[in-house]
Formats: sequence, structure tokens, C-alpha cells
Amino acid sequence: MTPFTFANARTEREALELVLQPNTAFVAGGTTLIDLMKLNVQRPRNLVDINKLPLDKIEVQPDGSLRVGALVRNSDLAHHPKVKDNFPVLSEALLSGASPQLRNMATTGGNLMQRTRCYYFRDTEYACNKRQPGSGCAALEGFNRIHAVLGGSGQCIATHPSDMAVALVALDAVVHITGPRGQRSVNVAEFHVLPGNDPHIETVLQPGELITHVTVPASSFALRSSYVKLRDRASYEFALASAAAALDLEGNQIRSARLALGGVATKPWRSLEGEKVLAGAAAHEKTFEAAADAALRDAVPHKHNAYKIELAKRAIIRALTLAAGKTEPHA
Ligand code: SF4
Repeated sequence: MTPFTFANARTEREALELVLQPNTAFVAGGTTLIDLMKLNVQRPRNLVDINKLPLDKIEVQPDGSLRVGALVRNSDLAHHPKVKDNFPVLSEALLSGASPQLRNMATTGGNLMQRTRCYYFRDTEYACNKRQPGSGCAALEGFNRIHAVLGGSGQCIATHPSDMAVALVALDAVVHITGPRGQRSVNVAEFHVLPGNDPHIETVLQPGELITHVTVPASSFALRSSYVKLRDRASYEFALASAAAALDLEGNQIRSARLALGGVATKPWRSLEGEKVLAGAAAHEKTFEAAADAALRDAVPHKHNAYKIELAKRAIIRALTLAAGKTEPHA
């Protein structure tokens, strides 16, 4: 591990000033960053601890929307009664991630900033454009069983590892950011970027910026929502394919739908193609199968991961079936 300095920030202003030093990173739960520092994959020279900032509240607004501080721990968010009742897909996604111990440490902001689990990214012996731009991609011709079938490029096919972010995409959530040029907001669906020719750039967050909170709007579809995660073992494992589904139903008719995928794409993946099939259709298996087909129509398999296409379709059908079957939502 490369030596580094460590400073505590007590206010947002102090955090923004401290992070201006070259090669400086924020640390909160540390569940990704410290691992990657030990592996010499990330080598910041300075760490700014932001755990003392007052960003650890979950606030339910009068209109039913949520305001979630960037430092809210994943376990607190997952178990919040309003999240469980009114945004079940978010609670289910959070509880499917990592282990209880990690969820107690991991934060909302940090979860959005998670780095990929690509083996080659985490092993400095291999070429990796994400870790070292221009060095190549060992996964393209290597063992790519866990890699993406959607959103990849000739430079990188690594999947985004977050479950929470997939649920937030389905819920139309918004990330709020502060930085040297003031405050701004970005939809979670647009917060992560495709790898293209620059896989080392993963989000729209600019140097010196800090995530302050996430807002989740109350919506007609959030109440009937579900998250299905398929993986190699039942817990403490990343998704091979996952689906977040949310349905606004009138009787058996789908008024509107949200569909997002995890484990199969280079970013938390909203499927507008799948949503289009669902909107206005009857909520039954044939519709869900058609939506799954549409969602994976443009998938590009690699040598070891073609199985993910069928797996993702099954996750979608299951998530839609569970969402449709949810009982009359809570007020
Ligand atoms: Fe690196 Fe991406 Fe290739 Fe993995 S898939 S080795 S993260 S460039």
C-alpha cells in the first residue's frame, strides 16, 4: 500500500478545500477504496475522511419522496420503514448486496461510486484500460464469464457492481452534488457513463466534487416494485444478472413501468425498450417475456458470458411477476 496522509473534514466546505490537493480521495465507509488501496489498484496520496459531515439522515418529505444523505449506511436505508413499505425495490436491492457487516459500513454515496469487480482490474499483473488507460483489456480475450453483454466497448466490458444503483435508476432517483462551482443534480440513470474509449471515467462526477444526497421521488410505480438478483451463491456475492421492476397498474393493465438491469451492463442499465413493451399492456407472463426479449435484444455476448442473456431475461420476468403480484400498496 502506498503511504498516504489522512485528514478529517468537519464541514462540506472543509471537505471541498481538502480535496483540492492533488491525488486526494474522499473516504466514508471505505468498503471499496481501502480494498483497492491494499491491492495497489488505487493509490491516493491523501485521504479526506467525510464521516463527520452531517449527511447521515433519511428524511421523508411531505409529498412522500425521500431525501437520503450520502452518508446514510446501506443497512439503515434498507431497514427504514418507509423504504421497505413504499420503495420495496430499493430495500430489496440493498439487502441483496454484500454482507450485513459491509452494509453497516457502506454508504449511499460510496455505493454509487463502487468500482467494478473485473478480476483483471483488481490484479495489477494484467492489462486494464480502466486501471491504466491505454494498457489494453485482458478481459476481452480472457475469462469473461462475469462481464457485460450490454454497454461494452472495444476498450472495456466490465460490469457495474451496484445493486442499489439499479433500484435507484428504476425509481427515477436523482444524485445531488456540491463542488467548487456550486451545486448540481443528475439523474442516477445519467450519473454513470459508458466506457467508450475512456473506461477510467466512470461517472459524471468532476474532480473536487462531493455527493451530498440522493432524492427518490414518490411515484405511482414505486409501490409495486421488486428486485431479483441471480448469482453464484445465495449471499455475499455480486450479481451475474439482476432486474429492478416497478409497475403502475390499473387492474391488470400496466399504466407505466420502470425496468433496470444489473450484473449484465457496464453501468446500471435502464431498459427503455423493455418499458415500452410494458406500457399499456396487460400484466401477464407473455408481456413480461416480450419485455425481457426487448431488453436484451442488443446484447453482445463474449466467449464465456452468453449465458447471461437468458439469465437476465429470467431475472426480468421474475421481477415483473413479483412486482405485479404485490398486494395493494401502503398509503
Ligand atoms: Fe479493465 Fe474493463 Fe478490461 Fe476489466 S473489462 S480488464 S476493467 S478494461
